[in-house]
Amino acid sequence: MQLEQMYQEIILDHYKRPHGKGLAESFNAEVHHVNPTCGDEITLRVTRDPVDDQKLLVSYDNQGCSISQASASILFDQLNDQTLATGEQAVDHLVAMLQRVEEPNEDVLGDGIALVGVSQYPARVKCALLAWMAWKDAAIQALGQEVSTEGEK
Ligand code: ZN
Repeated sequence: MQLEQMYQEIILDHYKRPHGKGLAESFNAEVHHVNPTCGDEITLRVTRDPVDDQKLLVSYDNQGCSISQASASILFDQLNDQTLATGEQAVDHLVAMLQRVEEPNEDVLGDGIALVGVSQYPARVKCALLAWMAWKDAAIQALGQEVSTEGEK
């Protein structure tokens, strides 16, 4: 019970004071994802880090429910200036956690573990995943060349 309350505080805090919200002017890829069942929307931009172009800078603007907005803020904390591999690991783990296939792993998700309660509400899972799916989409586009060679492995 106490843990649930703590998780709710974390989500509320990200919702009230979102991290990294606001679109960067320059970007390599931009996506717009919507979750029509709830009315959540996000525009997310990814820019290859000029110092290390395998790392991706994230910016976004969004609107929608508290879960979708908190989730985007958490994503910024976890994935800003990270590689595609790190991000994909986080996205895969978030999906598995929300399907209750994996236990929350704070090393991978940071504050994202606070979203574990959403797994009780299947209709809200898409709210929690929206930003992460948008990130993955944008990251793959921004790294287009590298990803297209994956089929050769
Ligand atoms: Zn929502």
